[in-house]
Amino acid sequence: MYTGPRIDTHAHFGNEAMLNLERTSEVNPLVKEIDNIRETVGYKSMFDQSTSLETLIEEMDRNMIEIAWLHQLSFKEVLGYDVLTNEEIEKAIDKYPERLKGFAGIDPRGKDAPKELEHAIKEMGLHGFKMNPNDFGGYFLDDRELCYPLYEKALELDIPVSIHTGITPGPMFRMKHNNPLQLDDVAVDFPGLTIFVEHIGFPWQDLTYNMVQRHKNMYITITAVANIMIHKSEALFYMEMAKMLGMIGSERILWGSDWTATPNIREVLDFFMHAEVPFPVQMMKGATLTDDRVADIVYLNAVRLQERFRMNLDEE
Ligand SMILES: [Zn+2]
Repeated sequence: MYTGPRIDTHAHFGNEAMLNLERTSEVNPLVKEIDNIRETVGYKSMFDQSTSLETLIEEMDRNMIEIAWLHQLSFKEVLGYDVLTNEEIEKAIDKYPERLKGFAGIDPRGKDAPKELEHAIKEMGLHGFKMNPNDFGGYFLDDRELCYPLYEKALELDIPVSIHTGITPGPMFRMKHNNPLQLDDVAVDFPGLTIFVEHIGFPWQDLTYNMVQRHKNMYITITAVANIMIHKSEALFYMEMAKMLGMIGSERILWGSDWTATPNIREVLDFFMHAEVPFPVQMMKGATLTDDRVADIVYLNAVRLQERFRMNLDEE
């Protein structure tokens, strides 16, 4: 059984606007949608647990999470305010430099977008680049005019790029923007770029596994999908893991909580410690979750990435 430390490669926290919303209990479509997601993992609503930075740190302590990588998220066009800005992430990292890393989001429509990314990394001390194609009015990830200058800049800055794919949060967004197939183009055109395909590209995960097999700098994250599937059926998720491990091995699979959207961190980590091999996987003599593989997924792969991208440099 792997009982060592963990690194959460994908987390958020609630900012002032979100905390005000908790107080006024004003409800908008995206919050309703997050409520739906939370319900699927056994929570009542956005507001049944504090989403503050301090609560995140407490959750990390409770679950032996050494470090969490914070991801920017705007959704300003839907909500009227930013969910989590680069500046708020910068402040959080300043407060907990040993516990937090940051992935900066940039509106690709801005004419100085690559410069903004450079500023977030070099001046603000963030560590990676986050893209969510549902954000900033919605866009295509293989858009050469809009996105390629940002990929070029990420390469130049030598930072990893985390890209939201699959899971489309609610009827106000378009699924076509989330299709991971677009990233095949990006990986062909930028072979040196390290890309995290978030959420296994669900429901296009088979396509994602095949793409990750082909591109050696591509990683897959089980973020949020693990929370939802494990809560519904551990065996179902185990069979998905067996397929994933069989196709790409354990060295390019990352775990992330997607706290605060899917807060059942303990349930997911318990699964990785105690999961029973379901009968169909035994029958297939399929890929099982050995201790070494669990260590890779919940900790070591992220450690290796932190070293490769010198994310701990600011602490030295
Ligand atoms: Zn997220």
